[in-house]
Amino acid sequence: MKNSIFCALMFLFCGAVWSQQVKNNKTEIDAKVSELLSKMTLEEKVGQMTQITVTIFEDPKKPGYFDAAKLKQGIQDYHIGSILNVPNPGAPTLKRWQETMQAITNEANKTRLKIPVLYGIDAIHGASYTAGATLFPQQIGLAATFNTDLVKRGAAISAYETRASSIPWVFSPDLDFPRNPAWSRMWESFGEDAYLSSKMAVALVDGFEGNNNVGSKYSVASCMKHYIGYGSTTTGKDRTPSIIPERLLRQYDLTIYQAAINAGAKSVMVSSGEINGTPVHASKHLITDILKKELGFSGVVVTDWKDIIYLYTRHKVAESKRDAVRIAVMAGIDMSMVPEEFSFYTDLLDLVKKGEVPVSRIDDAVSRILKMKFELNLFQNTVADLKDYPKFGSAEHIEEAYNTAAESITLLKNNASVLPLSKNEKVLVTGATANSMKYLNGGWSYTWQGENSDTYAADKFTILEAFQNKLGKENVLYTAGADLEKEDDAEIQKAVELAKNASKIVLCLGEKNYTETPGDISDLYMSASQIKLALALAKVNKPIILVLNEGRPRLISNFEDKMSAVVQCYLPGNEGARALVDILYGDVNPSGRLPYNYPRYPNSLEKYNRKYTESISEGEQNNDAKYEKSYSPQFEFGTGLSYTTFVYSNLKIDKTEINNTDEVNVSVDVTNSGTRAGKESVLLYLSDNVASITPEFKSLKRFEKISLKPNETQTVKFTLKQKDLQFVNEDLKWISEKGSFSVQIGDQKKDFLLK
Ligand code: BGC
Repeated sequence: MKNSIFCALMFLFCGAVWSQQVKNNKTEIDAKVSELLSKMTLEEKVGQMTQITVTIFEDPKKPGYFDAAKLKQGIQDYHIGSILNVPNPGAPTLKRWQETMQAITNEANKTRLKIPVLYGIDAIHGASYTAGATLFPQQIGLAATFNTDLVKRGAAISAYETRASSIPWVFSPDLDFPRNPAWSRMWESFGEDAYLSSKMAVALVDGFEGNNNVGSKYSVASCMKHYIGYGSTTTGKDRTPSIIPERLLRQYDLTIYQAAINAGAKSVMVSSGEINGTPVHASKHLITDILKKELGFSGVVVTDWKDIIYLYTRHKVAESKRDAVRIAVMAGIDMSMVPEEFSFYTDLLDLVKKGEVPVSRIDDAVSRILKMKFELNLFQNTVADLKDYPKFGSAEHIEEAYNTAAESITLLKNNASVLPLSKNEKVLVTGATANSMKYLNGGWSYTWQGENSDTYAADKFTILEAFQNKLGKENVLYTAGADLEKEDDAEIQKAVELAKNASKIVLCLGEKNYTETPGDISDLYMSASQIKLALALAKVNKPIILVLNEGRPRLISNFEDKMSAVVQCYLPGNEGARALVDILYGDVNPSGRLPYNYPRYPNSLEKYNRKYTESISEGEQNNDAKYEKSYSPQFEFGTGLSYTTFVYSNLKIDKTEINNTDEVNVSVDVTNSGTRAGKESVLLYLSDNVASITPEFKSLKRFEKISLKPNETQTVKFTLKQKDLQFVNEDLKWISEKGSFSVQIGDQKKDFLLK
């Protein structure tokens, strides 16, 4: 007892010392920022707000290497504060990154104030722009793990390997909240649930920033993106308009940002889209009033690629580039990702000189940028000492990426326990995605679109290679069977012939590597060439295991009933195929859960937390088949099977009536009733049964992933707070209303009353 009191006191004492330390550092940094700012010329200040892409400084005759005069011009003449992106032809080695950063630092050291240049990179699933880095599943797969500890560890590894590359700033996490599953960046998000996204956002920010220790040589500054509403385009196409009532923006999208801001996220990137007719880059309401003032965000606000120029050339809300700069800076932008020219610098300088942008706005922006540079310790060091990073690309890091992939892969269907496979049976591996690293990694891998993953990750296993590695080459039948787009009857015939000699077929379907506008589609169905292969193979009458390797849910309803099993592996990264094959053979028990509703039809894109009216089916009520059931996703949010079974029992809530300050403690027993050890994500849903704004059918409020041995039971406990009972009303206020609420975990349900 004495011991535990002592430990508790020590814990409180250390906590107090640590928070005092953080406060001291903050005031120390604020003082340094003010001092430096007071010495700066207007030109130097405006330069700090300018971010340029690295390739602009390259020698065209020597891709990946600087033209010294161009670099000098950028850093000395334009005083640029930041550089981004990957040099040509993509993914330098650690050594090349070090040389690159050294050259930039040398140039910065020749300037009057020697302010370090802040380098930013799209390291969105590991240090994905560095050769030999550990590549994790893409974000949608992280969400599917429902395991925030694992995800946080992965982000810490990503930070370590990014800093090893001498880069202190990552453009991650993606906090987009996609409302249309066709969106080409669906996979960069955490899926369709705001609570799951918030928890994952915090895990990534904490992992990247080392729990508020961003100055460490193993941490990086994170960048929340794309503020806000970017993932909600009406058309589903990238960078097209969104219509989002502010009530909904507050109820869902903003909660994810608030969680990441509370975790200490250092920067934010603005959405390239428009909401209700206003481009976000032009919205003082969204950037200054809500983000900076209301949510209290004190970090750096950076634009997305070329987005100030686009206010003029695309959105047509500015008369000229210069006008666009004024609108965006006055809306609250701190740094412009210009990024291929210096017009932002010259225009902003002119605007300030002519009194159209006040110096106070410039000082606010520059203070935020300098503060981040101090916090990152860039004034001490910008170039990594490679001796500090012995674990870069190590077996230990690879193991974590493998574990993350293994926990993300989601078993959606397993008729008659067709899985796991037996090593003694002959399988045919086929399908367009079966034999390339490009599809496992997706975009933002070594290059923007990820088209060179097969070269950079040549030592990693494709799905086919992982099968061959496990079973021996001679024991695996293979043919591509289909191209992603082009129909090829000869290939289909070949697959059908081979299938006759196999006892089971592993059919790998999915999508090309893509991101952003190049990934736009007009048809959510799986491509025709792949459907044709699936239907031809179905005629062979052998069990088919469909492996989905895709960034968004491509519709499979026209052949899914012919598949015995369906496994979603998302974009699982470099270690994904090994994890997949281990799952298919039962060496790993699957535990991923779907972080979105997988639609059955293109015109039925309801979310799991739909409104009641979205679930009504007149046909069902009237027993009339001519009415189609209105809510029937192919697979619902949260679906995820295991090779064992879990039984839920004994759901308890500690109060059946509460007042508006009480918490509700919930517990449930989960038992592994099968014969294998397994992991289970326990999901708690809440329904507000009656409310003045139509309530959601149910909404995820808590989750916890547990591991259970056969016959083991664990009691899982959750506490619901008042905030969990609230929604945003018409006056844009978070409120709760009296009445009954239902708690649901597994098949267990209990009600309580808010008095
Ligand atoms: C993307 C951002 C990315 C930026 C920098 C933009 O095109 O929308 O997500 O961080 O480029 O590469």
